[in-house]
Amino acid sequence: MLLRTAKNALRSSVDSAAVLFGPQRRQPREPRLWILMYHRILPKSDPRYSREEPGMVVTPETLEMHLQILRRHFDIVPLSEWLDRRHSGQALPAKSCAITFDDGWLDNYEYAFPILKRHQVPATLFAVSHMIGTSDSFWPNRVAKLLERPRKELESIPWLAPHLPPEDFSPDAESASAQETASRVIGSLKTFSDDRIHSWLDSVAPEAADERAMMNWDELREMATSGFVEIGSHTCHHYRLRTDLPPDIIERELAESKKILGEELKQAPRLFCYPNGDVCEQALRQVPEFYQAAVTTKRGINVASELNSFQLLRLGIHQDRCDTEAKFYSRLANWY
Ligand SMILES: [Zn+2]
Repeated sequence: MLLRTAKNALRSSVDSAAVLFGPQRRQPREPRLWILMYHRILPKSDPRYSREEPGMVVTPETLEMHLQILRRHFDIVPLSEWLDRRHSGQALPAKSCAITFDDGWLDNYEYAFPILKRHQVPATLFAVSHMIGTSDSFWPNRVAKLLERPRKELESIPWLAPHLPPEDFSPDAESASAQETASRVIGSLKTFSDDRIHSWLDSVAPEAADERAMMNWDELREMATSGFVEIGSHTCHHYRLRTDLPPDIIERELAESKKILGEELKQAPRLFCYPNGDVCEQALRQVPEFYQAAVTTKRGINVASELNSFQLLRLGIHQDRCDTEAKFYSRLANWY
């Protein structure tokens, strides 16, 4: 026990050093910006936790631990403020960090917002305008729900059958196995257009009125007016902006989401987030017509002098990779 504690302490200090003295310190005078990408914030005891993909969740306790570490080593800044300062040539801290939440999940309001307020930490939340206040689900969550059905029923769904685990798989043995199956099916579906995926799901599992997973306008408004949270756009429907999406739809996703968020929140969004990180030529051309900057899912740390404001790099943060101080330091160092 003592040995393990000592080992952990050593690993932790090595990892802390990675952040403080690692590769990103080679040019200490060059300002850098870490943008952290969170999705859902849920306690493990919440039934929504086990139904979600592991890469999407962080517990409230883990978020608390992250904020304490970040405050120790970074200037935590509102993303648009850092971009404004850089744009106008003002001095920037050597190491800044901006926190972002994607999608507009209700749990962000329930669990993340009180923590942000308590720590007085700013963040940006990217909302999907047409999903706000609805009980609509993202298609990966619909797939996960579909897979809860009895095996016999799933085997009768043509496309799905080859993606199911072997016959001896026991659905109640391990939730990790169920998540593995869901991840495999979701990964295979991603090769199709959003339209085809939704049509397929509509035919095999019509959307049922479910408990609301996304924030409503009042909750979003409360966050937006708190002074801690800026709201950015994440399109109208979370369609991936790929070449298989018709050009007029791409334009509408950018323009309409900006318009609706601006009308409802009395402040037009300035920042944009590409769903699933997908970026096509048209999106790259048109996003700057509507927004001042955009974040991707491309992993990395932004260097002020080499910045592409419309392809900002982020570090994905989730429970299994960041639930200890040592793991979180390694992620901040961008070692894995
Ligand atoms: Zn998203």
